[in-house]
Amino acid sequence: MQANFVLLATGLVDHCPQVESTPDCPTDAVRFCPICDGYEAIDRRVGVLGDLSTGAKKALFLRTYTKHVSIFAVGEASGSADTRKALAAANVTVLDKPRHIKVTPAGRVSIVTESGARHELDAIYPALGCAAQSDLAAALGASRTDTGNLVVDDHQRTTVSGLYAAGDVVTDLHQLSVAFGHAAVAATDIHNRLPANYR
Ligand SMILES: Cc1cc2nc3c(=O)[nH]c(=O)nc-3n(C[C@H](O)[C@H](O)[C@H](O)COP(=O)(O)OP(=O)(O)OC[C@H]3O[C@@H](n4cnc5c(N)ncnc54)[C@H](O)[C@@H]3O)c2cc1C
Repeated sequence: MQANFVLLATGLVDHCPQVESTPDCPTDAVRFCPICDGYEAIDRRVGVLGDLSTGAKKALFLRTYTKHVSIFAVGEASGSADTRKALAAANVTVLDKPRHIKVTPAGRVSIVTESGARHELDAIYPALGCAAQSDLAAALGASRTDTGNLVVDDHQRTTVSGLYAAGDVVTDLHQLSVAFGHAAVAATDIHNRLPANYR
């Protein structure tokens, strides 16, 4: 099959922590996107799993929805002085690395940390990064950023002639509306570049 243009929207895969649960456990206790559903965390107890840079950003974002925010330090645990200061100013509790994470049938998250302390939360937000699914485009020669996202121009054109990309594979703002917007921009550009077929 041949095509003049191809639009890839291959998305990303979030890195997930290991969480013990059973089929009867609700699945919404582990969440990935406070931009999407932060309002559901209003005044609830939430934990962020991540290092003290990416994780801190998510924790501070969530802090605008609830005062009960903890960060479980995974990976780079010391963080910059500025980050620590910002977390302290926002009363975000910094805890040690989780040893075991479990979702209960009641939908609560139970975390036991390396020090043996147990914490009960309403939800956790992993901030462990993600892998943009850009290998297919890269195999065709498309350039990627340091984070593995595809490089595109204002028309969603990649660096390979005729190859477009849209959505999470190109952006850090993982939102349906952003992906739709990219698709509209790409589709319009593709339409305008196709041979005119006047009726
Ligand atoms: C748990 C969760 C909740 C979310 N909630 C919201 C929300 O409430 N509101 C919101 O706006 N956004 C939300 N998002 C983000 C939103 O889902 C994404 O921003 C959006 O789906 C991105 O669309 P996309 O087309 O780029 O990628 P995707 O929707 O991820 O689609 C990519 C598709 O490409 C396929 N694929 C990948 N590689 C290949 C390949 N080589 N060959 C063939 N197929 C391939 C994948 O299997 C997948 O089906 C949420 C995301 C998650 C994970």
